[in-house]
Amino acid sequence: MPHKIAIIGIGKISQDQHLPVIAKDKDFELAAIVSQRGFEHPGVPTFRTPAEFYAALPNVEVVAICTPPSVRHQIAREALDAGKHVLLEKPPTPTTAELADLVEHAKARGRVIFATWHSQYNAAVDEVKKRLIGRRLRALAIEWKEDVRRWHPGQEWIWDAGNFGVFDPGVNALSILTKIAPGAMFIKRAKLSYPANRDTPIAASLVFSSNAAESASAKLVAEFDWRQEGEQSWNIDIETTDGEALRLTHGGSKLFVNSALVREAPMAEYEGIYRHFAELLAAQRSAVDGAPLQLVADAFLVGRREETASFHW
Ligand code: NAP
Repeated sequence: MPHKIAIIGIGKISQDQHLPVIAKDKDFELAAIVSQRGFEHPGVPTFRTPAEFYAALPNVEVVAICTPPSVRHQIAREALDAGKHVLLEKPPTPTTAELADLVEHAKARGRVIFATWHSQYNAAVDEVKKRLIGRRLRALAIEWKEDVRRWHPGQEWIWDAGNFGVFDPGVNALSILTKIAPGAMFIKRAKLSYPANRDTPIAASLVFSSNAAESASAKLVAEFDWRQEGEQSWNIDIETTDGEALRLTHGGSKLFVNSALVREAPMAEYEGIYRHFAELLAAQRSAVDGAPLQLVADAFLVGRREETASFHW
């Protein structure tokens, strides 16, 4: 029997990915949507609040929470209290303590909680992880530069404190990094550039250290920028101490080794997420990886702030 699932928050990612992927996944059946503005989807009822949905359809056991992160902790806690298994869009919560609380609460309620990191679901990412096992890093450079106007049109919430700013896409790169790195990664320094009229950064430069680095002077860096027009850059370059050059491009879907393309697969990140969720539900097991969120939190902890030009849509 497929799991009856409801989606809470029907914005861009729910419409681009969750609705179509659930529709073709035999392990899930869309049973309802919860939309504060009343978004409608054929064949299922819309509820304005989670509470109305929980009262009306108590037999729906699973929810996917796809709201902005700042409101997710409370919605997730209420879902667990209502006895639901919970899938969280990324980044799962604005703070690490809220994430830890959800893990504990899910355990106490005997429910499954799954914090998704969609960029981790690429064959090329798995391939890099395999290739890096037991090796050391001579250099690492993440370049994650995109046009906020193209990817987040009119989403005012991304500029509210607690909603990550440029770390909303940047955490995707960090979720790849924490998956593939052959040792722990730490934030040594961060420069965060805030538009004069906004509360979250539009750009960030990070310097890492790692116990997998060749030496303390190995150059391990990341550049995130939301002001990139024209071609968009989602690349990770790695040089190992034995001289291999690994280059992940296109958000982690293509891998070049010493300039030769060795892995390319069509993007099927959300298909991978729901496959994994079905396995977790079958095993009644939770999966919450807080490492990417920890790096973002640490960048805010050690980051030096600079002010840059005001941002207007
Ligand atoms: P979005 O288009 O702004 O949609 C978010 C939806 O959440 C809103 O449409 C609204 O839907 C609901 N919502 C509930 N409380 C809200 C509040 N206080 N403020 C604003 N909306 C509220 O955002 P999105 O791009 O889908 O992003 C949502 C999450 O998915 C983010 O964490 C983001 O990082 C992640 N994500 C986005 C993408 C992407 O391509 N955009 C890709 C991967 C992951 P209702 O009116 O239906 O309630």
